[in-house]
Parts: sequence; structure tokens; C-alpha cells
Amino acid sequence: MKKRKIVKINEELCTGCGKCVSPCAEGAIQLVDGKARVLRDELCDGAGFCLGVCPTGALTIEERVTEEFDEQAVHEHKQAIAGRPEYAHIMKCSLCGISENDRPLLPLKSKGESEWVCVRCLPGLIHG
Ligand code: SF4
Repeated sequence: MKKRKIVKINEELCTGCGKCVSPCAEGAIQLVDGKARVLRDELCDGAGFCLGVCPTGALTIEERVTEEFDEQAVHEHKQAIAGRPEYAHIMKCSLCGISENDRPLLPLKSKGESEWVCVRCLPGLIHG
């Protein structure tokens, strides 16, 4: 056990949209009974890549005593979930609609909304 940063999910704010599932490189977040959950604390490194995509602000980082992040556990978990549809929330570019499978997407926050934008559409947003 160790005091460290880890993702915290506010269940009251979570709508179960699933947008936070795919940004988690460790596969630590899954929808359970319609709400996002950190499956096991040792799978979450507390990096917080999921925070920016949540449209409701349900995700935050807290510091508390919990299990240490375990890279070996993540490796085994990712092998176990490979190909499982509940982890396959495929995102699409909000501008052109292309899938993350066909072009890299980046999370973006604009006017209170969380969006995914592909690398081809992003320059147009930056330069107008
Ligand atoms: S992105 Fe936010 S609202 Fe959507 S499932 Fe994740 S925590 Fe819940």
C-alpha cells in the first residue's frame, strides 16, 4: 500500500457514456451497471488521460493510500480483455467522423463539450 494519485469517479455525475474507457491505456476503466468504474486500483496509474474526455466532470484525481500501480498486472489484464466488446468503445472524429482505427484521434474540450478530433481535422481548428 502506498499514498499516491489515482482516478476517482463521481457516480452521481457519471452518465455511463463510456468516453473515458478507450483513453485509458491500461484498460483500468470499464462500464459496470451503466457507470464507469476503476476495476482494480493497481491498474490505474493516475495519469488522468481520461479526465479531459468526460463531458460531466465526473473524473478527478485524488491522492489516497491504495495499492501500488502494477505494470505486470496491467500487462496480464490487457491480454485478458483483448477483443472484448465492453472495452471496445471506438471513438470517431466529431468533425469528419473517421474512426480511431483509421486515423489517430486527440481529446479536445471546447465550450464545455468533450470531443474527439482526428489529426487531419485538428490543424483546421488551430489555424481556422
Ligand atoms: S466519460 Fe465521464 S460520464 Fe462518461 S462514462 Fe466516463 S466518467 Fe462517466
